[in-house]
Amino acid sequence: ADEFKVVVLGSAGVGKSAFTSQFMKQQFIEVYEPTIEDSFKKFCMMDGENCMLDVLDTAGKKEYVGLRDKHIANGEVFLIIYDTTNRTSFEEASALYGQINRIKQTRPSDGYLGSVPIVLIANKCDASDSAVTSDEGLGLAREFQCPFVEASARLDVNVQDAFTLLVREAKRY
Ligand code: GDP
Ligand code: MG
Repeated sequence: ADEFKVVVLGSAGVGKSAFTSQFMKQQFIEVYEPTIEDSFKKFCMMDGENCMLDVLDTAGKKEYVGLRDKHIANGEVFLIIYDTTNRTSFEEASALYGQINRIKQTRPSDGYLGSVPIVLIANKCDASDSAVTSDEGLGLAREFQCPFVEASARLDVNVQDAFTLLVREAKRY
């Protein structure tokens, strides 16, 4: 089966671990453990084809950003997550995108294939105190030339779909 190295990126607290855990174990993590970084493997069926997803849940805290370059270099496909209730996390998504392109030496200005497989996730869409509109999320995804998914790790909304889209993206390259 095809194997994909997925790296989950986003600012601290956006729900990277909750999102990963919801996908891997159908469990929601309520307690916030900011420093944890872990990798998980899951054999899955995506669009009728078997694949192995090797998912790295990264640490978003500033102290660990040094590791991020290495993780991005080793990764093949990326989930960039922001928290819809946190404006800063939305702004930081652009920096992450820039970092991916710098490390992968890709040039989005070359068009779609000038980038790497990415899916942009607006997490916590269950929350009522939204600070980022859907249109803004869509606009950013258009800039990234990638699919956009509004999701909730808490309610398990669009979590599986996000990974399905990611594999689909990976296969386009
Ligand atoms: P990480 O630092 O990106 O790994 O963030 P975590 O996965 O640890 O989540 C940070 C906090 O946000 C935790 O308290 C989670 O319970 C909460 N959280 C994560 N996903 C969601 C979601 O979809 N909706 C809501 N309302 N809270 C969430
Ligand atoms: Mg985490």
